Amino acid sequence: MPPAISLYVHVPFCRSKCPYCAFYSFPPAVGDIPSFLQALEKEIALLGREGDLPRIRTAYIGGGTPSLLSVPDWRRLIRILERAFTFIPGAEVTVEANPASLTGGHLSLWKDWRVTRVSLGVQSLQDKDLLAAGRAHDRRLALDSMTRISGTDLSLSVDLLFGLPGQHFRGWGETLREILSEGVDHVSIYQLTLEEGTPWGERPPNDLAEGYPFYRWAQYYLEKKGLLQYEIASFARPGRWCRHNVSYWRGGEFIGLGPSAWGYRKYQRTRNIPDLPEYCSMVARGKSPVCYSERLEGDRLASESAILALRTRWGIRLQDLRRDWGDDLPERMAAALKELPRDLFRRSPGRIALSRRGMRVGNSIWERLVP
Ligand code: SF4
Repeated sequence: MPPAISLYVHVPFCRSKCPYCAFYSFPPAVGDIPSFLQALEKEIALLGREGDLPRIRTAYIGGGTPSLLSVPDWRRLIRILERAFTFIPGAEVTVEANPASLTGGHLSLWKDWRVTRVSLGVQSLQDKDLLAAGRAHDRRLALDSMTRISGTDLSLSVDLLFGLPGQHFRGWGETLREILSEGVDHVSIYQLTLEEGTPWGERPPNDLAEGYPFYRWAQYYLEKKGLLQYEIASFARPGRWCRHNVSYWRGGEFIGLGPSAWGYRKYQRTRNIPDLPEYCSMVARGKSPVCYSERLEGDRLASESAILALRTRWGIRLQDLRRDWGDDLPERMAAALKELPRDLFRRSPGRIALSRRGMRVGNSIWERLVP
C-alpha cells in the first residue's frame, strides 16, 4: 500500500483584505462559497480519475479564512473530504481560524469531525497594532477565541506578527506573556514583509518597527517558557510540532486543492490557478486547474532539500544527504558555509543545524546554498 501523504485545502475567502497580505483571498460575493465547494468536489473527482487517491496522514485547511465558511458550508466541506479520502488513524488535521469569524458552532463541529489543531490568526493582543494592521478583530475577540479553543481538547496554535507600524517592544512582550497564559501549544511568529502587489508593498507605512529585537525576545522568552523553537518561525511544546509543516520541510508529498493551492508529488511542484471563477470553470470543463508546474531535480532539488532541513531544529543529517545525493553535496555545502561564523551552527556528530543566532540570519545562509 502506498504511504499516506499530506493534504492542503485553500479556502480563498476573507472578511476584508489586510493591507500587507499577498495570499489569494478576497471577501466572497453571493454564490462564491457554494461555487467554490462544488468546484472543490469536481477537482477531487478529476484527481480520482488519474488513479487511487492516497491516504491522508496530515491535512491543513488554510487560506484565506476557513472559519468564514458557515457551519452548514463546513458540513458540506467535511462530506466532500470524507467521501474522497481515507484519513489514517491518528491523522493530524489543522484548521486556520480568525477571531472575527470563529464561533462555538465551528469548534463543536470540528471536534466532532477529526480536527486536532486550530491555528488562530491573533497577530497581536494590542488593539493599536491590530488597528494599524487593518485586522478585522480586536484584542477582546482574540482573547475570547483563545479561551474557547483552550476549553476544548483541540490543540491551540497562534500566529503573531512583528515589525508592524508603530509596534512597541513592550506590547510584544505582553502579547507573548498573555498568549501563554491562554494555554497555547504552538506559536508561529512572522515578520511583516512588504510584498509586491499589496497596498503596503506599493506604499509602505513610514513607521515600521525594526523586527530583529522582537524576534530575539521571542526566541529567548518562548524557550524559557517551555516552547522549543523547532523551525525559523515556529515554537511548540515538546511533541506538539505541526506534523503537516514538518512533513513539508522534510520534502514530503502533498496534494493541494482549491484556487492558488500548491502541491508536490513525484518531484513535481504544481500550483492551481489563483482565480476562483477560472478555477471553477476549468474543473467544470473537466480540465486540471494546475497553471504552473515544475519538476525538481538535480542540484536544485538537493539544495532545496538542504535548505528546508536547515530551517528546522533537527537540521541536516549528513548521512541522509550522502545517501540521497552522493558525497559531492555535503562537501560543497561545507565549502559554502565554511566562511560563516561558527556560532551560527550547532554541530553534533553527523548532523548540522542552525543555532539560535543562525535562525536569526537564516536568509543570508540560504543564499550560499542556492546553486
Ligand atoms: S486574514 Fe489572513 S489571509 Fe485574510 S487578508 Fe488578512 S492576512 Fe490575508
